[in-house]
Amino acid sequence: MPRLADIIAVLDGWFDPRWAESWDAVGLVCGDPAESVERLLLAVDAVPSTIRETLSTSSQLLITHHPLLLTPVHGVPADDAKGALVHRMIRGGVAHFVAHTNADVADPGVSDALADRVGLQALRPLEPHADEPFDKLVVYVPTSDAQRLIDALAAAGAGAIGAYDRCAWTVEGIGTFRPRLGAQPTIGRVGEIEQVVETRVEMVVPVGRRRAVVDALHAVHPYEEPAFDLLAARPVPGRRGTGRVGELARAVPLREFVAHAAATLPATVGGVRAAGDPERLVRTVAVCGGSGGSLAEDARRAGAEAFLTADLKHHPAVEAVTERGGDGMALVDAAHWATEAPWLDAVAARLRETLGTTVEVRVSRRVTDPWTLHAPSPESSETTE
Ligand SMILES: [Zn+2]
Repeated sequence: MPRLADIIAVLDGWFDPRWAESWDAVGLVCGDPAESVERLLLAVDAVPSTIRETLSTSSQLLITHHPLLLTPVHGVPADDAKGALVHRMIRGGVAHFVAHTNADVADPGVSDALADRVGLQALRPLEPHADEPFDKLVVYVPTSDAQRLIDALAAAGAGAIGAYDRCAWTVEGIGTFRPRLGAQPTIGRVGEIEQVVETRVEMVVPVGRRRAVVDALHAVHPYEEPAFDLLAARPVPGRRGTGRVGELARAVPLREFVAHAAATLPATVGGVRAAGDPERLVRTVAVCGGSGGSLAEDARRAGAEAFLTADLKHHPAVEAVTERGGDGMALVDAAHWATEAPWLDAVAARLRETLGTTVEVRVSRRVTDPWTLHAPSPESSETTE
């Protein structure tokens, strides 16, 4: 049976807390990392109904997407609404963990699960995050010392690329130099031109490891004055980022895509609504789990014919669909909860795969979308023009 700390390590590996927005509040809200977890529950929100479900299923961990305590608090008294929830969890032996904006931008993240659910393929981030900045180190070393130098540079953090470490590229050549008066050359004599068979070693260096790698180079390189270059590399857009854009298997009328979204997303009272010509064809579709309205311009620039997200507002929506003489991007507005709930199933599947049968992983089916009623107007929207 894993400890809470083991499960947190897995989640932090997928949803690095360093990726969270500065205003966000992610990670462990309550619970003892040393205690073991037999059962856990995943939910979008930590609200009375999901906390009750955590307790009634004898789960020791509630993982949610939304932070319980997004606005800072200085205490959790039990006569405060949120404080009472924290008390209930601690008394019930329940730990609470949050992965929010760090899960939004992860690869795969919240919007990947949404895009998968509605059948989009060939996904790419709508607003890509640049990968971690790195330098390229080029160093020349006598060939007999090259492997030892690569080992030392790798130990200091150079040469890590994805799931590989100690990555280096080498080529052999001839180095030449003349030691001047006062030099103490490892090879050669003062005043005489020397030629040495050297290896040019190239390795990537994360910017944060610059000093450590250069120190390691000086410590291991046999020369008094090692020749090296540290070149700043341009960051490239990575696989992580906010929102996703992808393609449907075939172009379909907006009306059909909206019906498909309503049928495949978790059911809510409000269902799914759209702005735009119901008959227009859509194939390239952008999505963003949660409130993605601010990404509409990125979606349009990415060539999206429709943008599926939540919490869209009147004025930006009018502007988006009326631009280019009424041929703008269609907007598809689902319940905030319904756009994020697919992520729970994706995380549950990954947890089951990683943790095996050591933990029972459940997904809450409780609809925590706050809207409980929806009455279509007597005159249908067909009259709107
Ligand atoms: Zn959200």
